[in-house]
Amino acid sequence: MTDKDIFTIKPKEGEAWDVVIIGSGPAALTAAIYTTRGAASTLILGGESWGGQLMLTTTVDNFPGFPDGIQGPDLMNLMRKQAERFGAEFVQKNVETADLGKKPFELIADGKKYLSRTVIISTGASDKWLAIPGEKELVGRGVSTCAPCDAPFFKNKKVAVIGGGDSALTEALVLTKYATEVFIIHRRDQFRASAAMQQKVLDNKNIKILWNTEVTEIVGKDKVEKILIKSNKENTSGEMVLDGVFVAIGHVPESRVFKGHIELDEKGYIKVNDHTKTNIEGVFVAGEVHDQHYKQAITTAGFGCMAGMDVLRYLDKSVPSW
Ligand code: NDP
Repeated sequence: MTDKDIFTIKPKEGEAWDVVIIGSGPAALTAAIYTTRGAASTLILGGESWGGQLMLTTTVDNFPGFPDGIQGPDLMNLMRKQAERFGAEFVQKNVETADLGKKPFELIADGKKYLSRTVIISTGASDKWLAIPGEKELVGRGVSTCAPCDAPFFKNKKVAVIGGGDSALTEALVLTKYATEVFIIHRRDQFRASAAMQQKVLDNKNIKILWNTEVTEIVGKDKVEKILIKSNKENTSGEMVLDGVFVAIGHVPESRVFKGHIELDEKGYIKVNDHTKTNIEGVFVAGEVHDQHYKQAITTAGFGCMAGMDVLRYLDKSVPSW
């Protein structure tokens, strides 16, 4: 008998799940490990492109337990395997609507209705865009938000990364493996990224940095040809001929589906009342859809653990301590 045989609990046709977890990043999958092991029937509505931001990154060096680092997608596959080991059911579909005004809660994904006694929202955050002319039009034709996915297309080419956080610096380092020239364009004269990441970039001779510079337009007919830039210190402007633009300016919370039911702050982050509770009894939240401070794989996994335990307490099930 496997753990899956022992732990799997499913509702009968037409009955409600104990918990539906929306999302499939570290918060969602950690929550599922806890709820399944606490004997709650658990469905993960994981989204069509499952796994969250770690699926788009390379080496993760700060997740405990991996002294030599681990590739982001490998880490997510391991987490998914662990959640499924205890019987979590995984549906790789996006939630289209969430009716949280009735009980059991009603969620629609790919046209199918799912009922649940509790919900954990762990939809994470998605890429923020510059919202400048040419950006949307040239996505996939030189404009990208994912260097690990697209860097090989820029072999021997010239590219720019926009942003000054850990994501931008990581993207720039990945790109140096392919592109001949990599520029980081940052709007201030100081990076936001960690000191360790800054040092790696400053030590890399293939990366050039344009400080106090903003991109005002991306120009190209069928592909990126150049960008228009302006210095926000000297009030000068100019252009750069290049082949690729990687936008890495942070993320926005994925909370649109819940607007109207769940209280959001002015930036769209879900408001938390008490630990992982939202304004609706029985609806909990975990990860980057509410956390704007830590935003690390390990903290989001921690929030998932907390939400899983809060769900078990709400359902009056005991929380296993092993
Ligand atoms: P951050 O919010 O940390 O950084 C965003 C960067 O983009 C900032 O430098 C910001 O500038 C700039 N920016 C934001 N909006 C604009 C705009 N409209 N125009 C131009 N520039 C803009 O986001 P990240 O995605 O880099 O990181 C998110 C979190 O994930 C962080 O906590 C980070 O530590 C973590 N992370 C960790 C990694 C690792 O440990 N390996 C890898 C990647 C991310 P300004 O500085 O002026 O505000």
